[in-house]
Amino acid sequence: MSRPALYLDGVSVVFDGFRALNNLSLIVDPGELRAIIGPNGAGKTTMMDVITGKTRPTAGTARFGDHDLTRLDEARIANLGIGRKFQKPTVFDALTVFENLELALKAPRSPWRCLRWRLDGSARARIGGVMEEIGLTPRATDRAAILSHGQRQWLEIGMLLIQDPELLLVDEPVAGMTDQETEHTAALLRRIAGSRSVVVVEHDLEFVRALNSKVTVLHEGTLLSEGSIDAVQNDPRVVEVYLGR
Ligand code: ADP
Repeated sequence: MSRPALYLDGVSVVFDGFRALNNLSLIVDPGELRAIIGPNGAGKTTMMDVITGKTRPTAGTARFGDHDLTRLDEARIANLGIGRKFQKPTVFDALTVFENLELALKAPRSPWRCLRWRLDGSARARIGGVMEEIGLTPRATDRAAILSHGQRQWLEIGMLLIQDPELLLVDEPVAGMTDQETEHTAALLRRIAGSRSVVVVEHDLEFVRALNSKVTVLHEGTLLSEGSIDAVQNDPRVVEVYLGR
């Protein structure tokens, strides 16, 4: 079997004596789609922060392929090919869908290389490919300001995809979406995993079911249960602490 894309081993994070993560271990395989659920305060955001280098663990290790994430800063980690989508979309309203993707394609370059960067045929094809993937080709020349909430979220996912990440971290992508947008988002994430690993934190269990992926349940900073959505929903520990049934 291939080496895990992401490997957290015994990660703890202590803030002023409070254990936000408590000996958390997690393995995500290359090309895997993984859903992370858990009640508020379970440690989901802190886990994402450890992976992206925003928070340093107090104990344990976090590896991405051959890289020890606990030794790298946020910029270096982003350069390794870890993209993170926060809950609130940060697209540029005044720019079109195409221009947002163009900006995202050139943004990681140095200012000097950015100035010299020209939109050539291969860049156009790449932007076209991502627009197809996120389902926004018909909106290419529309400004982001007039997109629906769901379309703005997909555009932001596209802005990460265009940088070709090996691991994509997605935080509550369907909050505020219509049922149809939620379905589209599940299909999009299922499609883009496979050529990269995708970790999704989400509260909406119907959406998590639609992802059809392995689910990890966090509680009090540690792993409570792991398996299919049916398996974790029927796990008595999960029922007790999370589903409240
Ligand atoms: P989740 O994303 O699952 O809701 P978080 O990772 O945001 O959980 O938070 C886990 C726990 O750690 C919460 O109890 C939260 O209050 C606490 N916490 C998170 N960040 C900090 C911080 N910077 N300082 C102190 N406590 C924090």
